[in-house]
Amino acid sequence: MHAIDYVVTHTSRRSEDCAYGRALKPVTQIIALRKSKTKPNGKKPPAEEKKQYLEAEFTKVRVVDFDLKELVMLPREIDLNEWLASNTTTFFNLINLQYSTISEFCTGDTCQAMTACNTIYYWYDERGKKTKCTAPQYVDFVMSLVQKLVTDDDIFPTKYGKEFPNAFESLVKKICRYLFHVLAHLFWAHFKETVALDLQGHLNTLYAHFIVFIREFNLVDPKETCIMDDLSEILCAPAPPAPAAPSSPTSAPSPSSHNHVTER
Ligand SMILES: [Zn+2]
Repeated sequence: MHAIDYVVTHTSRRSEDCAYGRALKPVTQIIALRKSKTKPNGKKPPAEEKKQYLEAEFTKVRVVDFDLKELVMLPREIDLNEWLASNTTTFFNLINLQYSTISEFCTGDTCQAMTACNTIYYWYDERGKKTKCTAPQYVDFVMSLVQKLVTDDDIFPTKYGKEFPNAFESLVKKICRYLFHVLAHLFWAHFKETVALDLQGHLNTLYAHFIVFIREFNLVDPKETCIMDDLSEILCAPAPPAPAAPSSPTSAPSPSSHNHVTER
């Protein structure tokens, strides 16, 4: 029924036979197939005054109904850093995969800046120089950087006995902040295409899982994530909203979120 199997099992990163690659490969092929079948028109996403992703008919769609809080809590006998590393790597893979489903619609023309709600994200290069870039460039910077970090054995050690570096937690925070930007952009600029591919359940579930995870370990400043609080409130509620609800009051645009562009 669903195009991607939502991967929620955390396999050991220390296993030589890494599950991610194997699990994700066939999925990508399925998406490619589905894409050619139900190809959304490649039109520019309109400036979305109304947040379609807040409508009850979409927010109720999930692919799993696990208790996400229970899912992210540190299991007894598992090292905190190991748990953070495992989850961060999983989220990186899943968010990268989710973005790849709409990447052909995220171009320098359609997304001239990395936007989410009324925020524009700027990339800061290694010297700290602020750079304006298109959304696909920004996502590429994020994914390349994260890929480099999670595969660096000095930062995300995979060999038993090798210590995590002192900067590990701050790097995890940095990664999660960037991954949040990508998720926010997916909702803000590519929700229509996600719906056309029938992948909104995956996006909702992935987002809710991610938010519950970063909240559990205080990984991203709430000031950073507040632009999406309206959605987080709905999706991270313990029980999904009743399907019969006539119209959700939260589907109205937040009054504070208009006519104000934030630069980060
Ligand atoms: Zn885009």
